[in-house]
Amino acid sequence: MTTAYEWPEGKQSAFVFSMDVDADSPWLWTNRKLPDPRYLSHLEQRRFGLREGLWRILDLLDRYGIKGSFYVPGSVADANPQLLETLIGRGHEVGLHGFHHELVTDVSDQQFTDALERSVALFKAQTGKMPRGFRSPAWEMTVHMLAEVKRFGFYDSSLAGHDHPYQIGGVTEIPVQWPIDDAIYWKFLGGGADHWPPVAPGQVQEIWQEEWLGLHDLGGMMMLTVHDYISSRAHRLRVLERLLQTVADSRGVWSATSAELADWHEASANAGRYCYDAALPPGIHAVT
Ligand SMILES: [Zn+2]
Repeated sequence: MTTAYEWPEGKQSAFVFSMDVDADSPWLWTNRKLPDPRYLSHLEQRRFGLREGLWRILDLLDRYGIKGSFYVPGSVADANPQLLETLIGRGHEVGLHGFHHELVTDVSDQQFTDALERSVALFKAQTGKMPRGFRSPAWEMTVHMLAEVKRFGFYDSSLAGHDHPYQIGGVTEIPVQWPIDDAIYWKFLGGGADHWPPVAPGQVQEIWQEEWLGLHDLGGMMMLTVHDYISSRAHRLRVLERLLQTVADSRGVWSATSAELADWHEASANAGRYCYDAALPPGIHAVT
């Protein structure tokens, strides 16, 4: 049994490597109201991402000839003015990821819109062109956010209603999936912030590998999501490399960026299929 989704040139499946380049932005957002933060530990773990981690992963992608999609918060791009151009120069896509990595639950609709417009202006100023896509911090979305993403003509990559591209609220969705996000297994910053130990590399290897082989058989897409400071630690890079090797060994794979998938989806016969309204069902106010 395979999905009916049509990939270009008769390809069987698609693989997208994506990174949420959070760096220190969630720390800055979480501590935004503290006048005088005292603790360095979380900040240094996150700073590892742009000092070392990102570059290791970029070198790994080069070895496999993979072009990925990198979602960068505006504040990270602002503090590292060469970052977007460097990523683009190495053949990758850069996409939006909030300005301050604002969590949806912390901001109003207007604050979301302000952050989006500020991010777009910054990306345009730094790269000379509009970004193609948006990914929500922590992968939460609202109807308002979808409408704003649609207003700019962006695709979204934050929801998980299919495992191939689809459309929701008039927006092309390039879907994500929690089981193929590194944070749920390995994000462990210590200091009481985490409540479970990191998962063994072999276990993550098995889940990611099985998901890939299964999706490839089904004709779906794998949206792997890693973070600059998480998957770049030595033992995790080895897991990542083995996965990339398995993908390279699979036949009929379209390795592409989210932007390329969005362009394909909108131009192909898939565009009229898999379309959904974004309206939420009414709440359940009473149980009788
Ligand atoms: Zn993020």
